[in-house]
Amino acid sequence: VKENGTLIEVFTTDSVPYQIYQSEGNWLNIEFPGGRINRTKIAAVTSPAVIKIDAFQFPNSAQLSIQLRRSFSKYRHGYKSDPRRLQIAIEDASFAPDSAVTSLTRIGPDDKLDVIVIDAGHGGNEYGAIGRKWKTREKDITLEIARELAKLLRKDDKFKVVMTRTKDEAVPLNKRAKIANDARADLFVSIHCNASPKKTAHGFEVFYLAPAKNDSARAVAQAENAPFLVDDPNLKAEAQDDLSAILNDMIQTEFLAESADLASMADMEMRKSLSIKSRGVDHAGFVVLNRVYMPSILVETAVISNTDEEKLLRDKNFRRQAAEAIYSAIKRFQAKYEGK
Ligand SMILES: [Zn+2]
Repeated sequence: VKENGTLIEVFTTDSVPYQIYQSEGNWLNIEFPGGRINRTKIAAVTSPAVIKIDAFQFPNSAQLSIQLRRSFSKYRHGYKSDPRRLQIAIEDASFAPDSAVTSLTRIGPDDKLDVIVIDAGHGGNEYGAIGRKWKTREKDITLEIARELAKLLRKDDKFKVVMTRTKDEAVPLNKRAKIANDARADLFVSIHCNASPKKTAHGFEVFYLAPAKNDSARAVAQAENAPFLVDDPNLKAEAQDDLSAILNDMIQTEFLAESADLASMADMEMRKSLSIKSRGVDHAGFVVLNRVYMPSILVETAVISNTDEEKLLRDKNFRRQAAEAIYSAIKRFQAKYEGK
């Protein structure tokens, strides 16, 4: 049990079909057609979130009914293996971005794809990566590029812009996600600069959220996640929590295809307009992307620890070109997905 949700596990002998429905009085009912209940295995209620559990054996089905202490509006469910169990993750009503929303909207609250969140990475006492030669701070560059991108989008009357920060201030990652979710935004673009212990590492790279498939992608995500996790031990625990894992699993797959598409559009546009090389499109487990309910990407605009690229990042023209490339990708994404 976590503050923002409850995880219920039902151990089953097989992935048997089931139906879940809510009923009045905060009841969650799970029906297993043809199911048999092993009464000796029903655990005593130890969770403060659960008032009681009833099990009913009908001739042709079994039903588990769980009464929860608090009202809930959203839940997700699916089988997990080793051991085989049905997991039901329930979000408290208070956890939802807006309690009036009972399901996640696929793209935005309307059929427009126009509300764009620009997230300038780091800020305040959290500097991000630092350049080797001029000690350029990532937080300053990300804000410059974010402002440039906001300017381009605002000139275009097809877009509305929400920025997670507009000045040099520390904004926790969960707050950034909340800003985006509360705005019911359609897209989330996080701007960063990469860094590497290898002096020669260079190029831009676009990420979307999905479990990392290699160590280098995992390392980028860990570096971007690290300050936030260290600052907030509660969130660190939560990030490792089963419930978060199952919720985030499902949130990310919901927007995976769109996010991957946006990432490749951004990569393509940046290849066209930037003089530096593409490190390609990759995916990793970024905390900030994990919490936004919309297609999202994280752009590492260049490698700030590489002196040539640190120089570029300090150059207004390069920053404008990077912003223009991301803007073009957002335009393409809108043209492809709006109204769909
Ligand atoms: Zn960063």
